[in-house]
Amino acid sequence: MPIEIPEFSSLNILSYPNPVLRQNSELITDITPQIIALSEHMADMMEQSLGIGLAAPQIGLSIRMIVISLSGKAEHAAAFINPVLSNLEGETDGEEGCLSVPGVRANVKRYSTCTVTATNIHGKEFSLDADELLSIALQHETDHLEGKLFIDKISSVSKLVYRRALKKLEADYKNNK
Ligand code: ZN
Repeated sequence: MPIEIPEFSSLNILSYPNPVLRQNSELITDITPQIIALSEHMADMMEQSLGIGLAAPQIGLSIRMIVISLSGKAEHAAAFINPVLSNLEGETDGEEGCLSVPGVRANVKRYSTCTVTATNIHGKEFSLDADELLSIALQHETDHLEGKLFIDKISSVSKLVYRRALKKLEADYKNNK
C-alpha cells in the first residue's frame, strides 16, 4: 500500500513524544515524482531548522527515506531511500541533537564507521563507506526509521540532566493534542 503523502505545506517536524516517532517505517517500493519532490522538501525543512539530517518519520511519514547534508545546506543534501547499514565498526562518542527533541544535546556512543546501501532518487542502488560525522548522522537518521531516538541511547546521568527538558516536551505534547 503506497503511503498517502499530504500537502507539503501541512508537514511539520514532530517533537518527542509524538508516537509517530516510535513507529517502524515502511519500505518505499516506488520512487514516484512525489517521493522525489518530498526528498527536496525534506532537505529544505532540514536547512530551515538548522539540522544536518532529517528522516521522514520526523515529519509524520512512516516511510524509509532520510536526507543528510553535513553542511546543513539543502543544495548539498543527499537522499537515502530504504537505507541499510552494514560493516558497523569501531566506537566513537559525540554530542548529538535532534530536530524532534529540541533543547536536548547529549553524548551518544556510536560505531565510528559504517557502510550504507540505499536507493537514490533516480532509482539506482548505491553503497557508500562513511566515517566521522557522516557515519554518526547515518546511524542517527536510520534509527528514526526503526522508531528509535538518540535519547534512548544516552547515559542515565545525561538523562537526569535532561529530565526537565523531556518532561517539558511531554507536557507540551499533551497540551497541544
Ligand atoms: Zn533525529
